Amino acid sequence: MAKTYQTLRLILGDQLNASHSWYKTINDSTLYVIAELHQETSYVKHHVQKVCAFFAAMQEFSHALKKAGHHVVHLTLDDTLPHEDLPALLGALFEKYAIETFEYQLPDEYRLRTQLSDFCAYCKLSTRGYETEHFYLSDSELTTYFSAGKKHRLEAFYRKMRVRFNILMNNGQPAGGEWNFDTSNRNKLKQKDLSHIPEPLVFANDVSDIFSRVKKHQISTFGTYESKCLWPITRQQAKALLFSFCETQLSKFGFFQDAMTCKADDMYVKKQWSLYHSRLSFAMNSKIISPKFVVDTVIAYFHQHEDEIDIAQVEGFIRQIVGWREFVRGIYWLNMPRYGQLNTLAAKRDLPVWFWHGETKMNCQKHAVKQSLDYAYAHHIQRLMVTGNFCLIAGIEPSQVDAWYLGIYIDAIEWVEMPNTRGMSQFADGGIVGSKAYAASGNYINKMSDYCSSCHYEIKSITGHNACPLNSLYWHFMHEHEQQFSANPRNRMVYATWRKKSPEQQTEILQHASGLLGNLDKL
Ligand SMILES: Cc1cc2nc3c(=O)[nH]c(=O)nc-3n(C[C@H](O)[C@H](O)[C@H](O)COP(=O)(O)OP(=O)(O)OC[C@H]3O[C@@H](n4cnc5c(N)ncnc54)[C@H](O)[C@@H]3O)c2cc1C
Ligand code: SF4
Repeated sequence: MAKTYQTLRLILGDQLNASHSWYKTINDSTLYVIAELHQETSYVKHHVQKVCAFFAAMQEFSHALKKAGHHVVHLTLDDTLPHEDLPALLGALFEKYAIETFEYQLPDEYRLRTQLSDFCAYCKLSTRGYETEHFYLSDSELTTYFSAGKKHRLEAFYRKMRVRFNILMNNGQPAGGEWNFDTSNRNKLKQKDLSHIPEPLVFANDVSDIFSRVKKHQISTFGTYESKCLWPITRQQAKALLFSFCETQLSKFGFFQDAMTCKADDMYVKKQWSLYHSRLSFAMNSKIISPKFVVDTVIAYFHQHEDEIDIAQVEGFIRQIVGWREFVRGIYWLNMPRYGQLNTLAAKRDLPVWFWHGETKMNCQKHAVKQSLDYAYAHHIQRLMVTGNFCLIAGIEPSQVDAWYLGIYIDAIEWVEMPNTRGMSQFADGGIVGSKAYAASGNYINKMSDYCSSCHYEIKSITGHNACPLNSLYWHFMHEHEQQFSANPRNRMVYATWRKKSPEQQTEILQHASGLLGNLDKL
């Protein structure tokens, strides 16, 4: 007969926070459960590296808890197969271990939080949900910063966060005299910069056993399988990645934050996928490492190296975590579940097939998609201004865009994926997250990357057989939504330029775009 326990505590795959107050004391009557759940592998089709990385990190977390003296059950896909879903598994475990109390940390995803709260409503045991103790803002505080349906702006929120948590502040004023140093950031990588791009620190965690289980259970995945997981799956590895970021990338983080290149790799060194980005999102989103630890470490490193690192680089990085990351979480929780249905621009086309294999003649899209398939990673501008912009100006249905982003990225969990995708990138929320749609023609990509010089299409042409498709699609999109967008003063110049074109030119552009829209799979 199994040993019995009084309390069962559930740990979900993105709740690997070793600093949680749960673990401060060891209690022989508490059983921790970490389970590879079939339902979590199938609510969307995931990248194979994402499934392997989460399962590997869960396994490591369970070993670490056991080593610290806690009682832990780690269940694999084999063990959880007989149970239809999470509630069914929990019911069986309650019986097996004669559990009296069920405790869990509040899931960060609406789907799971609803499932657990519904389960608890009918559960005969005493139940209790805890904060995850991971974010700067606790769950219960979100309503003091965010309201449902209201258009929020990052800058105001970010300043409040800096003041409240005393981050990069000097006597109540922002360090360096500015809240935001974006004007000195965002440069293109020139030829001379390519050899200086640092080689990314990657790990080699063996996930072949996990992959065998994934295959055995016929879990449907996509993307390139790697038997050695290159993402950090332990706290020690996450810290190593953070320190490596401080040493090799922080000094240029903001400077090259938006840059893209396809000319920095050779046969031996692959570095253009990572550039000056930290790649800490998986470690943070699985909660292996906390945002506060990351921010405090970066600021301490900056203070020790102020002669080498400019505040603009540090502020740019801090803003992503203290600002954007906390901001999108507030937007998500205050607006779900309605947010997941929003489609303000009534976009309805299907996602082109090349999103699943990367075979397109558009060099920018090919690089962003293939890299995402190979690494389960693309940096922010690749997500926002390459694939995201394409979907926006081609009018792809937001739920299909959401599903792709939620599946493909190593760090994709709905609370952070959805406001970024449906909101910031697709403007499907009508401006809850951003003040305008981030629509761009090929010009933007030409400005920030070296993709266009080796593309099948001609960046300077709007119409004609080889014209860059993004150019006419952009004008088609702006024309289609003129009534809604022209009221925004930030779009005044755009519509002035459009109106300067002759009616014949406008017709030619719109007709060219319509031809492309009927043939998106073949671009
Ligand atoms: C369409 C789209 C979808 C996205 N989906 C996700 C997602 O599923 N999961 C995810 O974590 N991020 C997502 N982002 C935000 C951002 O692209 C990633 O956080 C970032 O690329 C992760 O790589 P990194 O760790 O190297 O980030 P860095 O460039 O090194 O930035 C540091 C950290 O800042 C945080 N951060 C930066 N930008 C954002 C942002 N816009 N929102 C929230 N946090 C941010 C991340 O935690 C990141 O690790 C998305 C962005 C877009 C435009
Ligand atoms: S020419 Fe157009 S499609 Fe080709 S890489 Fe440049 S922006 Fe992309």
